Amino acid sequence: MNEVITRSEELFREAVTVIPGGVNSPVRAFGSIGGRPRFIKSARGAFLYDEDGNSYIDFIGSWGPMILGHSHPDVLKSVQEACRSGLSFGAATAAEVDMAKLVCALVPSIDMVRMVNSGTEAVMSAIRVARGFTGREVIIKFSGCYHGHSDGLLVQAGSGVMTAGVPDSLGVPAGCTKDTLPAQYNDLESVREHFARCGEEIAAVIVEPVAANMGVVLPAPGFLEGLREICDRYGALLIFDEVITGFRLGIDGAQGYYGVAPDLTTFGKIIGGGMPVGAYGGRREIMEQVSPCGGVYQAGTLSGNPVAMAAGIAQLTILKEHPEYYSELNKKGDWFYGKIEEILKEMEKPWRVNHVGSLGCLYFTEQEVNDYEGAKTSDTKVFADYCNDMLRQGIYLAPSQFEAMFLSLAHTQELLEKTLLCIRNYFARQSQ
Ligand SMILES: *Cc1c(COP(=O)(O)O)cnc(C)c1O
Repeated sequence: MNEVITRSEELFREAVTVIPGGVNSPVRAFGSIGGRPRFIKSARGAFLYDEDGNSYIDFIGSWGPMILGHSHPDVLKSVQEACRSGLSFGAATAAEVDMAKLVCALVPSIDMVRMVNSGTEAVMSAIRVARGFTGREVIIKFSGCYHGHSDGLLVQAGSGVMTAGVPDSLGVPAGCTKDTLPAQYNDLESVREHFARCGEEIAAVIVEPVAANMGVVLPAPGFLEGLREICDRYGALLIFDEVITGFRLGIDGAQGYYGVAPDLTTFGKIIGGGMPVGAYGGRREIMEQVSPCGGVYQAGTLSGNPVAMAAGIAQLTILKEHPEYYSELNKKGDWFYGKIEEILKEMEKPWRVNHVGSLGCLYFTEQEVNDYEGAKTSDTKVFADYCNDMLRQGIYLAPSQFEAMFLSLAHTQELLEKTLLCIRNYFARQSQ
């Protein structure tokens, strides 16, 4: 019998000869679940369509941006209109002012904002600003939090790195990470110890206010408040990396949701509405350090690109005009993840579900997951089996245990019920 080779398989075979690992970002590879990437041709609403004509209910949403669902007509229209005026000018545009005004209006801790092209760039730049502003060099980051792939932050960096099974990266000079001190998520004592030892040298503490790159780990009550307090006591800056949580947990992100204001915030993913955009912003006196206003150099040829701004502004404007969308989305999340917990209980599975708002994660461990150590106890072999089974049933989950599920407004009750049925099917088969 002839082996049937799918178009995705064929593309992957070509891809690996010209692209490292066949993908342009490691999280897209299916290596950790023992499969092959599906090559996606198009997406609409909550659905992805691959090159072989299969459709999937998508729980990645481009890793977060698609909060309105894929190919939202208003967002597409704005992009098409912007394209007609030219793709890039390398000069100031009105759209950049609109975007900056929008972000400053939506997020109270932000007086000024600078656009960049990715989350990595946003974080790298925010750290430079924190160092420039404080005149200090050391930063604290948490194990299992991911802040992009810049040298200094590839220390116990979560999902992509975790999945590949490499603790750090080759090619990062030791000198670049010597000023990065790792602490434990939800463990204020591990932060206090660093400050007690070298508090006068610490420029900033950077944290994902909800850690969403080791699955989903919620901040324990008092954790974010505690960080705020420690930073204030030592004159260090608190940076919230809201690349995932920004404009997702609410229009004012995790800082609004938990009521703790950072000094600097980084954005990515959602802020571009699907286009490659990042941003960092904060208090005026801090942001005025940025070149050409101040002495911290940071630049970008395509930053604030008019087409990218059009997509981001269109999505953010819709979200701003519909505050009820967030209550709807968060309610949907509570219901959906709660139902998964019910299924687990009913099927007598000891596994754990962590969730907040539209973000959630099913861990194949019996322990509570409150940090990186806890996340690592999940049985990734069972996850692989589950993930492949779901894919065969038409449910597209991130192909890694250490990623979140992202719900969007396009995930209707009917689609979520269908997904729950698939989850139930999986566990029923497993119990046989
Ligand atoms: C994705 C992510 C980044 C990096 O963003 P890129 O656009 O991939 O460079 C940084 N921080 C967090 C929290 C992220 O989830």
